[in-house]
Amino acid sequence: MTEITRDVVIIGAGAAGLTAANELKKAGLSVAVLEARDRVGGRLWTDVIDGAMLEIGGQWVSPDQDALIETLDELGLETYERYREGDSVYIGEDGTLTRFTGEIFPVKPETEKVIVELIEKLDAMVALVDPDRPWESPDAEALDAISFEEWLRQQTDDTEARENIALFIAGAMLTKPAHAFSTLQALLMAASAGSFSHLVDADFILDKRVVGGLQQVPLLLAERLGDDVHLNAPVRTLHWGDDGVTAEADGITVHARQAVLALAPVLYNRISFVPALPRRQHQMHQHLSMGFVIKVHAVYERPFWREQGLSGTAFSPFELTHEAYDNSNHGDERGTLVGFVSDKNADGVFDLSPQERKERILESLSHYYGPEAKDPVVYYESDWGSEEWTRGAYAASFDLGGLHRYGPDLRAAVGPIQFACSDLAGAGYQHVDGAIRMGRLAAERIVAADRT
Ligand code: FAD
Repeated sequence: MTEITRDVVIIGAGAAGLTAANELKKAGLSVAVLEARDRVGGRLWTDVIDGAMLEIGGQWVSPDQDALIETLDELGLETYERYREGDSVYIGEDGTLTRFTGEIFPVKPETEKVIVELIEKLDAMVALVDPDRPWESPDAEALDAISFEEWLRQQTDDTEARENIALFIAGAMLTKPAHAFSTLQALLMAASAGSFSHLVDADFILDKRVVGGLQQVPLLLAERLGDDVHLNAPVRTLHWGDDGVTAEADGITVHARQAVLALAPVLYNRISFVPALPRRQHQMHQHLSMGFVIKVHAVYERPFWREQGLSGTAFSPFELTHEAYDNSNHGDERGTLVGFVSDKNADGVFDLSPQERKERILESLSHYYGPEAKDPVVYYESDWGSEEWTRGAYAASFDLGGLHRYGPDLRAAVGPIQFACSDLAGAGYQHVDGAIRMGRLAAERIVAADRT
């Protein structure tokens, strides 16, 4: 058993924890990062599967994500645009496939009118929401008491318009059914990306990727920390008080003045806090839960859809794979499609055998791209729900009423413990940008406290 003393112990080597550790080190403080897994990066993970490099977790960068873009620049990482030449495809309620360009799905004119009006209405509501303080926005309490599904039902009887608008937040972002989160939570998701329109615009929200994969951010941040990062070191107990903290992990104990808890909030209860955390945190953390989505990769000898003039961008709230994109790697001759199977659909296919699941998912992709989609040379499904140190994807959100009730305390420190994770962010919420912002905030607070 190793026993060391540092100024700050950071628990979790994802983007948030490694950002905090680097900022603290820059400020002259000594750090130890304790990571449960045998790798750094958490929900950022680039792996080679059957010879194909795949980004199993987070990968896209959008133009508003200043904190992430600054970090990419600082680390000297290059980005490239997602392939987007040609037509997108949409499958309607009756199963008809339509090619289209632009952002609005090709639906009946009366449905399109409702969709455009709803987007305008949501944009106006989102403009009044400060992503860092959504609980202070007009009607916050009432908006947090009504599910997004119910709110949409109150706006229109047009099912296809409702399903389309719900898709941008439910299946595509929070990865929970629209009845499971509030309208305020939906507004936060949109405000964190700048507007509701940004979520509708795939070319904005899924704009760029990093050459070599986004996991390079945590890998390079960890490289700068060298021996200060300890892998295979899940923290089991955290003693805390006025005189500092002691983190007991497998194989190592760290004594420090302060701690940064940089893990998904659904995992806080895996740690025994001595003394226990305050009542407010005990309650609040139970109201946050992970969404669930399967990220599917299918790699082909060539990007055959481009020959048909298709961009690879595909949507349908009525398909098992509700959205899919060209995800071919930079400089790779092979073509890769990425598709997403969200919440209840994901539960459903995990009830099947792996072979049946693969067939069902590829069948769904073939509805967008034709029969060739059924024969990839490499096929891979992410399974973040089974990952002990994550337990879902993409991130955590509040149940009905939780955001207004607990939001103001979400990022509050408890004694010498700071909390940092993308799931607690305002701007950049549920994204790597938010993780970096939260890592910076925790470090700033610690440095400020250290100076006084
Ligand atoms: P995490 O990455 O979860 O890091 C927490 C770390 O803490 C982990 O390494 C974990 O192992 C460790 N840990 C947990 N418990 C303990 C313990 N007791 N002791 C020690 N260590 C512990 N974001 C984007 O910006 N763009 C995208 O395209 C995108 N797509 C995504 C696709 C998928 C499939 C997933 C899963 C996520 C995606 N995201 C995306 C979200 C993004 O990946 C996350 O928001 C971000 O990586 C979270 O970083 P974090 O540091 O806050 O948390």
